[in-house]
Amino acid sequence: MADIKTVDDADFGGKRVLVRVDFNAPVDDAGTVTDDTRLRAALPTIEKLVADGAKVILTSHRGRPAGEGFEEAFSLGPIARRLQELLGRDIVLTRDLVGPEVAEVVDAMADGDIVLLENIRFDKREKKNDPAFARALADLADAYVNDAFGTAHRAHASTAGVAALLPAYAGYLMEREVATLTGMLDEPKRPFVAILGGSKVSDKIKVIDALLDKADTLIIGGGMCFTFLLAQGKAVGASLKEEDWVERAAAMIEKARERGVTLLLPTDVVAADAFSNDARTAIVSVDEIPADMMGLDIGPETAAAYAQAIGEAASVFWNGPMGVFEMPSFEAGTRTVAEAVAANEAADTIIGGGDSVAAVNKFDLADAMTFISTGGGASMELVQGEALPGVEALRA
Ligand code: ADP
Ligand code: MG
Repeated sequence: MADIKTVDDADFGGKRVLVRVDFNAPVDDAGTVTDDTRLRAALPTIEKLVADGAKVILTSHRGRPAGEGFEEAFSLGPIARRLQELLGRDIVLTRDLVGPEVAEVVDAMADGDIVLLENIRFDKREKKNDPAFARALADLADAYVNDAFGTAHRAHASTAGVAALLPAYAGYLMEREVATLTGMLDEPKRPFVAILGGSKVSDKIKVIDALLDKADTLIIGGGMCFTFLLAQGKAVGASLKEEDWVERAAAMIEKARERGVTLLLPTDVVAADAFSNDARTAIVSVDEIPADMMGLDIGPETAAAYAQAIGEAASVFWNGPMGVFEMPSFEAGTRTVAEAVAANEAADTIIGGGDSVAAVNKFDLADAMTFISTGGGASMELVQGEALPGVEALRA
């Protein structure tokens, strides 16, 4: 982060500051934000700017509108209401994103005021990183702050384009996300245990590859483990499998051997006769998965072995659930792993990925983790060694 300025590097008093945040939070039918984690994550940056006496212009996307103008279903109205409660001050929500009417609202702002622009994706030029749209956004402000780590892997007008046109700074959330994840990769405390799960090898192959360069132990669970088991010559019945990826999985097994990384794969699984919580289930060895059954969770012997390895770690990175944790019948493996990570109080424990974070929250263990990344896709791209456009655009 040495070449990236943060909000601590400036006093924004009297300045108009455009702040890109990630307020893409779930909203129910009654228009209530049902999980305000993302809003709360941006509060430190907003509060610092308000304390400086800045005129704070917030911008965010929400969902996937058509990009043809205002759509009630994707309005930031519910977000503005919740943010108002969290901050205890009035928030003005503009209907337009750029142009004279927004400029008029901004001109009328007093120091410390907060304005929220409507959903930035109501204009399709946002996702195209259209230069004229970025210029129009820049014209509203004197400085730019990006605190939207969750969209840092996208080169859009409000995440990349505008950063080149104004003095640009990282917000606290962005700074913490990037510093924590790159710190883990550059200088992990050892032993460094990486846990990967989730559905597909194809989604995660670059992450697996990158972590094999860094980790001492790599633990594999979730749907992706069956492609690895195929690579070991086992039969996996009706389990999720990607035949086209067996060769790559075999190459990963070989890479682990060459690099001296301990690769842990399941020895038993919870097999089910249907993809259903009410399915008939059996705990079977990975050598005896019935042809007509599918593995929907790691088995208890596997979970215990994984928990032991996690207990010996000095740092842990976890992405991807061990099984179909959304169904109680197949949550035990993910729960055992989550509890083992939580119980290792001495280790740095970092959780990344939408469903993994949901699992940790489901088991009420979030507070026991060192760091929970707010950016699913962005954290994966960072871990797999890719430059994030939203971060690169902040470099001096
Ligand atoms: P994350 O969002 O944490 O990166 P993924 O999106 O890669 O994780 O994968 C999460 C999904 O993987 C969950 O919905 C879970 O139900 C599914 N999954 C885990 N294990 C299995 C399995 N054995 N078979 C099918 N799906 C699985
Ligand atoms: Mg996911």
